[in-house]
Amino acid sequence: DADTQREAVRAAAENVADRLEDEKEYLTDLDSAIGDADHGANMSRGFRAAADAVADADDAEPSDLVKQVGTTLISEVGGASGPLYGGSIMSASQTFAEDGITAETSVDFAEAYLDKVKDRGDARIGAKTMVDALTPAVHTYKKSIEQDDLPPLEALGKAVDAAERGVEFTVPIRAEKGRASYLGWRSVGHQDPGATSTLYIMEELLATAEE
Ligand code: ADP
Ligand code: MG
Ligand code: MG
Repeated sequence: DADTQREAVRAAAENVADRLEDEKEYLTDLDSAIGDADHGANMSRGFRAAADAVADADDAEPSDLVKQVGTTLISEVGGASGPLYGGSIMSASQTFAEDGITAETSVDFAEAYLDKVKDRGDARIGAKTMVDALTPAVHTYKKSIEQDDLPPLEALGKAVDAAERGVEFTVPIRAEKGRASYLGWRSVGHQDPGATSTLYIMEELLATAEE
């Protein structure tokens, strides 16, 4: 019911905020190699504010809570990742508006989120961005639920595995979008920060669902 869903959104936001706080230094290290060394601070500040924002919103619809995560990220985080994460979460939250959060609507959310990220960032697969982790993850999640009929938890586990391979895929390729693209071939050999934070967020969604 709506209460359980609200609780799940709050728990997920809290777990993601804690994880990104733990990974702040590592994400910053990744971004200092091919960017401006702020991805750890951006992500941990943004998701801490988002978790706080949804913590005491009692009678909001689950979709409104998800939307609030997005709007908070937009207002707290500048740069590339703020609008990409925040705007896409905000827009994709609409998929939960009618039926709440279900296995079916979670697939719709994942697809809407990926579409928005690609729309806003205009990055194809292989441009060394968060899209490289997100695309295989979303496709795997959708297929696992809709074709293989797996329970959402198992589907999410497979999606996390796919995201992990996507993160590894960003290492040997050249950045074509964002700050890292200014480095050209010198971006080769470095792991993309945004793909990495996308993986961490998905891992925490899985951990929350397992609780
Ligand atoms: P900024 O680069 O503005 O400092 P962050 O460091 O917070 O912002 O985020 C950098 C991450 O954003 C990159 O690692 C990459 O994954 C992602 N990114 C940058 N530009 C794009 C884009 N056009 N499309 C998708 N993702 C992008
Ligand atoms: Mg940066
Ligand atoms: Mg920046």
